[in-house]
Amino acid sequence: MSFSVSILATGSELLDGRVVDTNSNFVAGILAQRGLRLRRVLVVDDDREELLAGLGDLCSVSELVITSGGLGPTTDDLTREIVAEFCGVGVVECPQARKHVEEFYLKRARVLEPTNLKQALLPQGATMIHNELGTAPGFIARTGEGRVICSLSGVPREFKQMFVDTVVPIITEKTKDARPIHRATFKTFGLPESVVGRLVAGCGLPGDITVSYRAAFPEVHVVLKTARPENLPDASRRVESALGSEVIFSREAERDFFQELQRLCEKRHITVATAESCTGGMIAECLTRTPGSSAVFLGGVVSYNNSVKQAVLNVPQEIIAKHGAVSAEVVRIMAREARSRIGATFGVAVSGVAGPDGGSAEKPVGTFFVGVSGPQGAREVRCFYPGERATVRMYATYVALDLIRRELEAFPIPDGYPLVSRQ
Ligand code: ATP
Ligand code: MG
Repeated sequence: MSFSVSILATGSELLDGRVVDTNSNFVAGILAQRGLRLRRVLVVDDDREELLAGLGDLCSVSELVITSGGLGPTTDDLTREIVAEFCGVGVVECPQARKHVEEFYLKRARVLEPTNLKQALLPQGATMIHNELGTAPGFIARTGEGRVICSLSGVPREFKQMFVDTVVPIITEKTKDARPIHRATFKTFGLPESVVGRLVAGCGLPGDITVSYRAAFPEVHVVLKTARPENLPDASRRVESALGSEVIFSREAERDFFQELQRLCEKRHITVATAESCTGGMIAECLTRTPGSSAVFLGGVVSYNNSVKQAVLNVPQEIIAKHGAVSAEVVRIMAREARSRIGATFGVAVSGVAGPDGGSAEKPVGTFFVGVSGPQGAREVRCFYPGERATVRMYATYVALDLIRRELEAFPIPDGYPLVSRQ
């Protein structure tokens, strides 16, 4: 069996909708950064039979099993007893653990209840895992078959710290001789997932390369993985030319659309101003997510009501009456005025029908116009995204920012841009 890690998350609150199992997600994320993935995630109730069955299941497939939760002082905290039972040993008080529990209470001037001393018990032969942030120490136990069980506190911040400080070094040691997995990431905007899949499938990639897709609305991500790094550059070139470099906004797994746009704007010393109607400030919000955004985003106007379009952005009443507030003519003026009044390199404006009401035969719900005004002139696009209000607004935000990206990269804006991408 190749080395693998699984996680047993315990707690009835995880099964009845009160709490989301973020601990497993955290572990999966850290493993992914190291080219590993969790073998299984199992969530079980605080129940002896469930815990025993869960440990049995996970230890049958993984060399390292992490448990989360159930180390507290209450009667429903069963992890230490059940792990001991599973390993065929009893529990004993660990002097180091007792010292930790006593000092924890002393430092906080809290009364130590006799039940708190339960937290000083560990399965016989286990090694304590220090819990800097909480009372319950964790532990590392070994089963008769040589599987390693690392039991950590369920409290997310305690879990994270214990995992990073103690479990990650164990994983590093166990995987040091493994052949690392090499990956190439392509984050795209503008093509539906089905089209991305078809284009990548047509690349004729060698058999050692596995391809995975993730639709992260409205983006689609493609990841190529292989143990043979020599095959990656050619495969990446093929994928890039099949998808078209203009739809690939990032090749870095850790960077998002907004960070990439900010990086691009900073590199070109570009500033942006916004004039938003149906997006209600979302574009400005997205432009200010990344630290350092003040170098790029100067400010914006949320001109939701037509009176604000007229009074603040100089959109003549006759233009609104003639073409409608959702029109190329109106976003052209909004973008131009945002740019000139705020003094930015680019002004970008959006006006649309986000729904669910307000649509017409000519401009159904999901219709929006985006205007960009910049040093090379102005550009407006009419778009349609058939979705719910929240998705229409997010899609319009992406289109607005993607148009700036395309301007800066001198990428074309083809007829029919942007293709409709479904969730
Ligand atoms: P305590 O000493 O606080 O009892 P514990 O190790 O016994 O810690 P639990 O009682 O299972 O852990 O959970 C403690 C807290 O952490 C609870 O608020 C619980 O909702 C939360 N929690 C437990 N497991 C998870 C998880 N997998 N993901 C996110 N939160 C969790
Ligand atoms: Mg508990």
